[in-house]
Amino acid sequence: ALQKIDPKDAQAVSLAYTDETTTVDKKKFPKHDNTQTCSNCQFYQTAQEAGTIAPCTIFGGKGVAAKGWCSAWVKKA
Ligand code: SF4
Repeated sequence: ALQKIDPKDAQAVSLAYTDETTTVDKKKFPKHDNTQTCSNCQFYQTAQEAGTIAPCTIFGGKGVAAKGWCSAWVKKA
């Protein structure tokens, strides 16, 4: 099964990844809002979705949470 990335992983920390978008620091990321989630991000590989996690291109295909977020978020086209 697809493993979800650890938010304490070095790359996750560098991109401020969280499993829960509502926990993002609004001061550090003023453009963030709670409608932004991995599940509506360009890099979320929904074709391979496995429940509440799916591979993220930015994280080299490792799993991220549907309700997660990171600073590389881009709205799905
Ligand atoms: Fe989630 Fe997108 Fe960041 Fe990947 S790039 S962790 S899908 S917000």
